Amino acid sequence: MKKEYIIEACNGKKIEVKKDQLITIIDIEGSQVVDFFAEASENPDEFLSTGVTIDCNESLKLKIGDIIYSNLYQPMFKILADDVKEQDLLHPCCRPEMYDFFYHNGANHSNCLDNINMNLKNKRALIHPVNFFMYTKINTDGSIIVKKPLSKAGDKVILKALMNVSLGIAACSVSESDCNGGKTSPIKIITED
Ligand SMILES: [Zn+2]
Repeated sequence: MKKEYIIEACNGKKIEVKKDQLITIIDIEGSQVVDFFAEASENPDEFLSTGVTIDCNESLKLKIGDIIYSNLYQPMFKILADDVKEQDLLHPCCRPEMYDFFYHNGANHSNCLDNINMNLKNKRALIHPVNFFMYTKINTDGSIIVKKPLSKAGDKVILKALMNVSLGIAACSVSESDCNGGKTSPIKIITED
């Protein structure tokens, strides 16, 4: 069965996905980062881990065919297609303290940590999502710079679920930097068998 979900700018959603279903993540307007997190449907103590994903793939970036792993080193998703081929595995979800650190405006600022926690009905102290479409340039000296995403309107990533999962997805709330191209916009998710 095919289902479509719109996640409005600066919002989040929980989406249930079964093993072997396909998940299409669409940047509707372009240059919008998608904070993509998941927990195992039967066990929320098993969840998506960017650190384990970096470890298993021996890479700071994802490419088509790569696997996204759980904290228990189990395969959660396989990347089947990627129009942009830039994503970020380094940054945690934005949160009020991040907005305070950089922009002094954290009070009442929408943020991906709260948007994912509220939808998954959990209170994780820190969430490290896969940040699809986020363009973090990694320099040879180890320094990083966040640049405007390369994604254009309609660009997409397609994943296959390798276990039953509850997705916690947010359209990132940062409008203060190049992270989302200086604005925030909605995203679309399609799940299908
Ligand atoms: Zn965010």
